[in-house]
Amino acid sequence: MSARRIVLATRNKGKVAEISEILAGLPVEFVGLEVFPHLGELIEDGATLEENAFKKAQQTYQATGLPSLADDSGLEVFHLGMRPGVISARYAGEHVTYEQNNAKLLAELEGVPLSQRVARFRCVALLFDGTMEKMTTGICHGVITTAPSGHGGFGYDPIFQPKGYDRTFAELSISIKNSMSHRAKAFLAMRSFLEVYV
Ligand code: IMP
Repeated sequence: MSARRIVLATRNKGKVAEISEILAGLPVEFVGLEVFPHLGELIEDGATLEENAFKKAQQTYQATGLPSLADDSGLEVFHLGMRPGVISARYAGEHVTYEQNNAKLLAELEGVPLSQRVARFRCVALLFDGTMEKMTTGICHGVITTAPSGHGGFGYDPIFQPKGYDRTFAELSISIKNSMSHRAKAFLAMRSFLEVYV
């Protein structure tokens, strides 16, 4: 019997590699969007991470006819009413750098004591196959530091210190980050579902 095919609804090669590693060993052939060049840009204009993940999975399913697995993540800062959340990538505006987003967040938290700098990364993973939808969530708790530190990772990693560590994600190894990240948790939960689904 040939392996079941599932499309990973992302064009981010780093993400494909990370997710494929977490889901390795399942009787599934994961294919990336490069296999479907006719599929246009995935639309991410939802009001929540859940909505965006569903839109991306649904759009990919409609274009490919194959079960599609999408994800959406963001940084939620309690003191800021869970912003930037769904707009994490474009917090300081369209086409900005990670540094600009980090600078905006640090400016908004200027003078806020460490006890109130609590934040979390949240990832929603969603599988859609035309009839069924399965959603899993992963959360990683931490605090926003007062200045960027470290050069690893991407996005808000230099200003996010995960709970239980005195270093930022950008100062920790990829394997430590992947052992506790929001994405890893969401896709590990998805893995448990896929073991039954496939
Ligand atoms: P995405 O939905 O996974 O593409 O994430 C959207 C945005 O959230 C990214 O552009 C980053 O700004 C932020 N983000 C998500 N995951 C991480 C992470 O693991 N580290 C740092 N920033 C992240």
